[in-house]
Amino acid sequence: MPDFPAPTVGRFAPSPTGAMHLGNARTALLAWLHSRALGGRHLLRFEDLDTGRVRPWAFGVTRRDLEWLGLDWDAEYVQSQRLDVYADALARLTAAGETYPCTCTRREIAQAIQESAGAPHGTEPVYPGLCRTHPPDPGRPAARRWRVPDQTVCVRDAFTGETLCQHLPTEVGDFVLRRNDGVYAYHLAVVVDDAATGVTDVVRGLDLWTATPRQVALQRALGFLTPRYLHVPLMTDFRGERLAKRGGAPPVQALREEGEEAGRVLATLARSLGWEVPETVTARELLPLWRRTLEEAGWSLSSQS
Ligand code: GLU
Repeated sequence: MPDFPAPTVGRFAPSPTGAMHLGNARTALLAWLHSRALGGRHLLRFEDLDTGRVRPWAFGVTRRDLEWLGLDWDAEYVQSQRLDVYADALARLTAAGETYPCTCTRREIAQAIQESAGAPHGTEPVYPGLCRTHPPDPGRPAARRWRVPDQTVCVRDAFTGETLCQHLPTEVGDFVLRRNDGVYAYHLAVVVDDAATGVTDVVRGLDLWTATPRQVALQRALGFLTPRYLHVPLMTDFRGERLAKRGGAPPVQALREEGEEAGRVLATLARSLGWEVPETVTARELLPLWRRTLEEAGWSLSSQS
């Protein structure tokens, strides 16, 4: 097993932008199983910085869904209550000359990408660094971008065993740390919070795997330890399509309110992972299955409780 100071601290970090569907619930289950299988603490963190997308009712519904499934937590954090912590981190990077204001519009950025000689790398557009050298337009609100170091950052996933390397300037680009409407960016908040709350193990969906090298780079710039990353597959429907909120995946709340048994929902989630379980199970009963999954992924848990 990779070395990291015990005890384990894990977290589930939902964005309260809607109802928790079965796919989210499976990630929540795995994050909980991991923290508890290693005898660690488990945190719940609401990632609610993008206020325009937040649905106030989603906090309470998510808590009730988790409780219903038996996924408890030791402490709760709400990002919108921690703005000063992100402001401090941004101020540190700015004091070190690592950030710059940017007033480019999406259209200007798209145009610059089109005009730049280099073919686009990867699948996402890479900010071409327009404002690195141009002064911002004083008439427009400015975002704050991170001047990414000229480095290739490699991360190894402790679950899949995969390694991902990204050359920051060409594959990621100078990314936004605070948007021009004052909202702190997810990448900054996630890195600051995981470090501030002592998270040692990040269990989350595979959709965030390609964002990991830039988060590790930011950790290094801020002098934080890098947690272990375990990216777990996203739940797909029978057609192999990802269960998205808009795609009609059943919200946990609906199942709960229709009188469905939590144990049967947990059994469905467990079976979707290929685990053989009875018709109904408790989250605790799944702990040995997660331990076995970790061992199959190369972890040695003999010394863990
Ligand atoms: N809030 C993010 C989401 O719901 C998860 C962030 C993370 O786990 O790092 O997709």
